[in-house]
Amino acid sequence: MTTFPKATIEGYPRIGANRELKRALESYWAGRIDAETFRTTTRALRIDTYNHLRDLGLTEDYAIPADVAYYDQVLETGLTVGLIAGGTDLDEEFALARGNDTRVPLEMTKWFDTNYHYLVPEVEAGQAITPAPERVLRLVAEAQEAGHKVRPALVGPVTLLALSKPVEWSLLDSLVDAYATVFAALKEAGVEWIQVAEPALVADLSTPDADLAKYTEQAWSRLLGAENRPKVYVTTPYGSARKGLDALAAVAPDAVHVDLSPWTLDADADYPARVAAAFEGKETTLVAGLIDGRNVWAANLRDKVEVLNKIGATSVSTSTSLQHVPHTLNAEKNIPVEVAPWLSFADEKIEEIKALVAGESEAPEAFGRSDRAARTRAESTRIHNAAVVERVDALPAGQVQRQPEFAERQEAQKALGLPLLPTTTIGSFPQTNEIRKARADHRAGELNDEQYNEALKQEVKNVIELQERLGLDVLVHGEPERNDMVQYFAELLDGFVVTENGWVQSYGSRCTRPPIVVGDVSRPEAMTTEWSAYAQSLSDKPVKGMLTGPVTILAWSFKRDDVPLSVSADQIGVALADEVADLEKAGIKVIQIDEPALRELLPLRAEDRPSYLDWAVRAFRLVSLQAEPTTQIHTHLCYSEFGQIIDAVAGLDADVTSIEAARSKMELLEDIDETFHSEIGPGVWDIHSPRVPSKEEMVELIKAALVNVPADRLWVNPDCGLKTRGYAEVEPSLVNMVAARDEVVAGL
Ligand code: GLN
Ligand code: ZN
Repeated sequence: MTTFPKATIEGYPRIGANRELKRALESYWAGRIDAETFRTTTRALRIDTYNHLRDLGLTEDYAIPADVAYYDQVLETGLTVGLIAGGTDLDEEFALARGNDTRVPLEMTKWFDTNYHYLVPEVEAGQAITPAPERVLRLVAEAQEAGHKVRPALVGPVTLLALSKPVEWSLLDSLVDAYATVFAALKEAGVEWIQVAEPALVADLSTPDADLAKYTEQAWSRLLGAENRPKVYVTTPYGSARKGLDALAAVAPDAVHVDLSPWTLDADADYPARVAAAFEGKETTLVAGLIDGRNVWAANLRDKVEVLNKIGATSVSTSTSLQHVPHTLNAEKNIPVEVAPWLSFADEKIEEIKALVAGESEAPEAFGRSDRAARTRAESTRIHNAAVVERVDALPAGQVQRQPEFAERQEAQKALGLPLLPTTTIGSFPQTNEIRKARADHRAGELNDEQYNEALKQEVKNVIELQERLGLDVLVHGEPERNDMVQYFAELLDGFVVTENGWVQSYGSRCTRPPIVVGDVSRPEAMTTEWSAYAQSLSDKPVKGMLTGPVTILAWSFKRDDVPLSVSADQIGVALADEVADLEKAGIKVIQIDEPALRELLPLRAEDRPSYLDWAVRAFRLVSLQAEPTTQIHTHLCYSEFGQIIDAVAGLDADVTSIEAARSKMELLEDIDETFHSEIGPGVWDIHSPRVPSKEEMVELIKAALVNVPADRLWVNPDCGLKTRGYAEVEPSLVNMVAARDEVVAGL
């Protein structure tokens, strides 16, 4: 019987080093390739990946996880065990993910505290659960044919139910039967090890920890008690398990993974000792998830050895799947030579795992490299900028408060001369083909900087003229100069490094390229004033200056692991405060600071949330702290259930807050009580859908908003930026939006 491999990983990026999966998906959806070609292309990608991982040193049997999914890992497991029905056909699978003429897609939401989105299974008490083990058997067979003994990877039953909607624990027993059927089929196919992830055990979800622990014992004592099954490796990525850890120890799976990343140990320093104690005397093989699966820093191998000794494990892995980091540093040509040795992407992390398993005597070079990187990083002036540290140290401690308070500012801002229920948009306008082409030509060197700038200015002009024609009240410049709302600022700020090919899957075929916060952040020069001032020169109406807020910049970047997040947040906050001052000097009267990711960094454990919200709110407030009372500060949030963070949203103390609300029919406004004193723009147009909303439906939404928000505090705007839409929908939708406002105002 095969013992658990000594060197392994929890998962590997699925998208492909050259985004092969993205291309295959999009080609199939566009009808450029058929199902057969899609299957052979993606099969080739999987086998290439296994070969590549073997070449990198994952040579033991079952060291390579088969964490395969065309679109999403939760959907994949849901279909395999039959909690989600209807996925034996490729088009049905994609209809679940993306919707089609006859069905709306499954809801999508963030996977734990990462920027990966999973599809939320829709379940119902008493529903049928019919497993489809052939989905995973196919993967096993194709790997065997190519000479690999891979470890099929599934999301576990407790996590699958904890993440479904509604959370329906009465399904647990029949779901466990379905898992048992899949396990038996894998055993019969000759599979010796499988991997089952139970990250629900590390988070405070809607089910209390004690109940999750109880369900864990209930599910896993049955699954592990079955005769006909492979050995099971249960994993707990993304944080530290509490009662769930004891529940796992009680049922003693064949192998258990624990997350020992710096994040987890910072939040729970005793975790290694607790893990060691819980599994003392058990047959379970402990697997140390030492190498950070969600950040890009080279590991300090000596520190890792120390943690490894504390739990006494013999197998080493990553803390989470490597799906959250780019494939390899080898694809980067422009990372400064000083910085490159400090970094480690997926492939380089496998080297680190091998070195840890081998030990210093067998891998002296890797340990030497690691020591050198730690030393140069600790000393580098690229990381440590005394002026920035001094400036941030001199800030008042604790919460900061813009003066005067909102009521007085609201009076001062009447000078803007806005009508009742002012209309605006969230920032970006559609990316036209001309702009895309200009960008490509500029990158290819066919347009020089000046010509490219001209093309962008022309676009700004078009966008301003359109808004004037439509009769909007507060205009935007359309953001054509921004490739991405975070990357744009990362490229202009000191202390960041950007990658060329560091793509990470966000959802489905969508990838992002997160910048890396390497050191202390500062702003060498103004970043947005030229665009905003130009746009303002074209109109007598106020044009909004557009900034991405400090929390969102941080959330969508790889973060430093040598200082608390709050330190980087403060630094970005004061850099943006300088930008606010420059915008004011340039004559900009309205400034929007976007924070769509405020909810995303919310800690998984309830007791860590208040302090996060404190520093996140502070970082935002630093940006507007010195703004003139006459400057109207807007913020924008989207993508999330605001319930848990509504006080923090109010605490941002913006003058105007726009939030996503159309799809939930303004329900969220019920949460907004007297503490929410600012003006508010609940979105009346769901821009995630390609349809044109009618005037009538927007009238209804505005009226629904007026039930909770007085007319002198209500704005009318879409849910989010218009970047992903086309002008064919945007123009009529905005016409209807302005007409809806006019109709409601006429009736007031
Ligand atoms: N200002 C940005 C835009 O309109 C906001 C995007 C977002 O909220 N994700 O594109
Ligand atoms: Zn948005």
